[in-house]
Amino acid sequence: MLAIGIDLGGTNLRWCVVDGSGEIRHRGRRPSPKPVPQVVAALREAVAECREHFPEVAGVGLAVAGTVTEESVSSVNLDWQEVPLARELALGDLPVIVENDMNAGAYGEMRFGGGRGLQNLIFLTVSTGIGAGIIVGGRIYRGANGLAGEVGHTVVDLNGLLCGCGRRGCIEALASRTAIERDIFGEIRGGRSSVITGLVDPDSGLITSGHLAQALQEQDPVVTDVLERAAYHLGIFTGSLVNVLDTECVVYGGGLIEACGEFMLPIIRETAYRHLIRPVSPDKLPILEAALGDNATVIGSAMLASVERLGNGS
Ligand SMILES: [Zn+2]
Repeated sequence: MLAIGIDLGGTNLRWCVVDGSGEIRHRGRRPSPKPVPQVVAALREAVAECREHFPEVAGVGLAVAGTVTEESVSSVNLDWQEVPLARELALGDLPVIVENDMNAGAYGEMRFGGGRGLQNLIFLTVSTGIGAGIIVGGRIYRGANGLAGEVGHTVVDLNGLLCGCGRRGCIEALASRTAIERDIFGEIRGGRSSVITGLVDPDSGLITSGHLAQALQEQDPVVTDVLERAAYHLGIFTGSLVNVLDTECVVYGGGLIEACGEFMLPIIRETAYRHLIRPVSPDKLPILEAALGDNATVIGSAMLASVERLGNGS
């Protein structure tokens, strides 16, 4: 069965046609518009384009970076509040499933990625924020209000740095890309020298994942220290989540882990295992890098649409 998977992010709109074995058969992308009528028009165009290539597609899975309830979508990234997206899209005969993007990514990793064959997993991404998708018993765990997985403001250090939410030591304030960038520039301003100074484009002032990977390769002491500290905090955070959910597997996604996972994941693992209430042997609780990379969300969305169409629920 073929289905369309769409990822509507704050920056990019990506779409794919995915077959029943998780293979992408067709794909496209464009920058995301934000006003609802333009988003709806762009989504309809994307669906029409997919149906031109594959008229037999069975449904559409649409992942959005935001809070998704049965009726509506609210998204800070898109500046949306309670938009009835599925109803506005109204694709006639083609069923549409709307899902939170982290949940869709978690579902994709469970079906065809690092968690293949497992029923209980946590999918985490480290980006400008830190988010999670949670699978319990093979199904997405949404919580009572569709808010499950909002893990970014989990406090891991009461004496830690101030977070945007007003509390101290949230994981986002300690280990997100934004925090890592802030810490590296802080060290440089404090007088330490780093190869980052020569790598960053002075116009944008942004440190990319590629810059971090290169700095690690050159054994830059500032980047090594900052990423080590971030990974340590992610380890405590991962251990706490596993203690709550008794999960079988933790999958880390996002560009930072893709670029620097070889350095960060061993520290995350070692710290997480030490913080488990009940010791688990590492082979019983793999902590892995996402196997589907940034395709996890579109593949997961398409799979959710197929499953819904087959009447198995999700
Ligand atoms: Zn916070």
